Amino acid sequence: MKLDKNVEVHPGSPNTLVYEGRIVIDQGGKNSSLNLEAEVQLATHGHMDHIAGLLGGKIKFLPPEDMWALSLLGRRAMTYGFSSRSSSVFSYDLVKEPITDSISTSLPSEIQPVKLPGHTPGHTGYIVGDTLYAGDAFFGSKVLEGFVFPFYVDFWSAMESLNLVKELLRSLDNVVISHGPVYEKKKMEELLEFNVRYGEKLVGWVKEAISQGGTAEEVVVRVMERTGRGNELKPVNIILNSVTAKSILSQIAREIRVESRGVVYLG
Ligand SMILES: [Zn+2]
Repeated sequence: MKLDKNVEVHPGSPNTLVYEGRIVIDQGGKNSSLNLEAEVQLATHGHMDHIAGLLGGKIKFLPPEDMWALSLLGRRAMTYGFSSRSSSVFSYDLVKEPITDSISTSLPSEIQPVKLPGHTPGHTGYIVGDTLYAGDAFFGSKVLEGFVFPFYVDFWSAMESLNLVKELLRSLDNVVISHGPVYEKKKMEELLEFNVRYGEKLVGWVKEAISQGGTAEEVVVRVMERTGRGNELKPVNIILNSVTAKSILSQIAREIRVESRGVVYLG
């Protein structure tokens, strides 16, 4: 799908952007098998579904704060919060091999990086031409409602990053995200706004869930149940959503105490 004469997007999860047929951003998921003959391969962050391109390409770039993604153990640490030997819990381990090729620390000048932390520490958007590739800074509405909690290791930084994307869009023609539809600018701005509002709603749901106290995992279960996602209550979903929940809870809880069930947050 062509966005303009220099920008092509291969839809997928993630959507993979190709600029001038030689600069590739976030090749992963089902797009891993595309033979793109990239000169430069960029990953917005180190998650398993965004880094397959770093196994190929001539020049490779990964934000320095996400370099622990070079090993499987590091990738698990930044996704689930821990690693161990193989387990059914690690269901997002799309890339199992270590990335051993050297990763460049400086970018060609035609690519403008924009730090959009929150989803991961180093999460970075890239401006090529008049398009911002915003990676996992925000999500399609179905993705958001499906997972219930957007994966933000720092929810509050992620919300600030959304404001930065909003500002940047004033002077750009297009924005592309990794997981969600590829729309023209106006609809993407609406989707961005939807993500901001959703984040506010989520904080409200988390607050309600701790009115009588609750652990992070209990909060996740309660919020997923109230949003009609009770059938998605799988261990890996609870583990991933607890990361975002803890980021929210650590800010909004009036009191944090220990009970026999664990760390209990009180609203
Ligand atoms: Zn990600």
